[in-house]
Amino acid sequence: MNRVYACFPGGKHKALTLSYDDGKTQDRRLVDIFNRNGIRGTFNLNSGLFIPKYERIDPSEIPELYKGHEVACHTVTHPTIARCPLPEVAQEVINDRTWLEAKTGTPVRGLAYPNGSLSRDIENLLPACGIRYARVVGSSDSFALPENPYRWQATCHHNHRLMELGEQFLGLFKQQYLYLMYVWGHSYEFDNNNNWDLIEGFCEMMGGKDDIWYCTNIEYWDAMDDFSRLRFAADNSFVYNPNAADCWIRVNDGEPVRIPAGALVNL
Ligand SMILES: [Zn+2]
Repeated sequence: MNRVYACFPGGKHKALTLSYDDGKTQDRRLVDIFNRNGIRGTFNLNSGLFIPKYERIDPSEIPELYKGHEVACHTVTHPTIARCPLPEVAQEVINDRTWLEAKTGTPVRGLAYPNGSLSRDIENLLPACGIRYARVVGSSDSFALPENPYRWQATCHHNHRLMELGEQFLGLFKQQYLYLMYVWGHSYEFDNNNNWDLIEGFCEMMGGKDDIWYCTNIEYWDAMDDFSRLRFAADNSFVYNPNAADCWIRVNDGEPVRIPAGALVNL
């Protein structure tokens, strides 16, 4: 019987993604740094806070500024949602989605919890609001894949061991594992702490690597969901990919194999 391993798109075994909150004007500089290095990420926006005193980007910039990245929810008004009635939480999420979707023209299915606030009831509510994953705060110091999409903790905040963890991640070579590095923060923190050189150095160090898949947050989940829908023969002698996207697998520790969208492939 064939032994099959999931791969990330492109047959890679490492993925890097980032997540930045609040949509302040410093996102312009951050996105430019990402784009110059082929780094990709997710930007979590509050549709109700685009007013001058909060120093946010102009909503008209959204489609062009975040092109190639993901725009995700951060609720309409950034409340500490664990203190709110659940119907209000649902509206904060759904109304944010609706507004962001009108701006981006794509389904918006991610969330970063505002103020890192969540509860079991909120986790359980989110799938019905069309949310596929939700990011908490803090640092896991880990490259392991997340188990609970609705309590997704990043590897690190950018002020927490960023370069050290980045170097560790670059050094990972064991193809029998999938590794994920996930960094989060707020772009205005680089102004506050005067440390733009940190994220510039990180992106330069991490960009352009053949064994890393550079993805947005939702692309990570979509790829894992696509893999879970692959239909394997009982003995893994063939596989059918019912998805709209190609999938990648490794068979018996060989080179990665592409399973084209909609195709049946003999293994
Ligand atoms: Zn925030």
